[in-house]
Amino acid sequence: MRITILTLFPTMFDGFLENSIIKRALAKKCVSVDVVGIRSFTKDKYGRTDTPPIGGGAGLIEKCQPIVDALRSVRTPGSHAVLFSPRGGTYDEKKAQSYAKLDHLILVCGHYEGVDERVNHYVDELLSIGDYVLTGGEIPAMAVSDSVIRLLDGAIAKESLVDESFNAPLLEYPQYTEPADYEGLKVPPLLYTGDHGAIAKWRRKQSLDLTRKHRADLFGKLELTKQDKKLLAELDGGEAPKWETTALEKGKKFIKK
Ligand code: SAM
Repeated sequence: MRITILTLFPTMFDGFLENSIIKRALAKKCVSVDVVGIRSFTKDKYGRTDTPPIGGGAGLIEKCQPIVDALRSVRTPGSHAVLFSPRGGTYDEKKAQSYAKLDHLILVCGHYEGVDERVNHYVDELLSIGDYVLTGGEIPAMAVSDSVIRLLDGAIAKESLVDESFNAPLLEYPQYTEPADYEGLKVPPLLYTGDHGAIAKWRRKQSLDLTRKHRADLFGKLELTKQDKKLLAELDGGEAPKWETTALEKGKKFIKK
């Protein structure tokens, strides 16, 4: 896959591309990322890319010509061009999954007070990353690239993607590391039992509980299985079910205090 980012501030992406999983994915050629500076495309005799809005008003608006020429220079057949805008549809994991199937994703970052309305005409989609206003589209471009790249083959271990938040659509269950007791906060003993069936059931139950508590909107969309309904009833009943007490009893020698 190829991602092209159009921005007035290309150096903002240096740290993003030169660290951690993204750096590794680039080295492994899971993806190629080109950051293209819009400023070099301006035909304005003073080198301007932005001017005050016609009709008056606060701030500077990015002009059409540099953005459209930059976009034309990177377009490939079948490419999908996204302009970041608070007006767009809201980005989510489903959208990340659909972008991860593209050959070429182009991300256009607005800046300052926004872009000339007519730029919308040259892109395929407007996209927002949430109901708040950022100074530019660079952070949205990093958020989108990051969430897409990690889905690509070879970027991270496939198993890491299976149980993740929003996949089901459920929030992920809680995860723990050593020590078993950190300042009095304990790892749930069931996780030490080695009973993988019980652990999977416990994790599903936690996911259901967290989603119901924190994301009623996602919970409402869930198609609950018979087992999910049973797990929720156990949560509501408050008592430890038989499968849990049995697993704890059988695995008690492995439980760390
Ligand atoms: N004046 C605009 C408004 O009120 O809608 C806000 C412009 S914002 C300061 C500058 C640029 O940042 C936008 O053109 C867009 O590219 C980007 N941006 C800001 N907030 C965003 C968000 N929540 N999602 C996506 N892009 C955003």
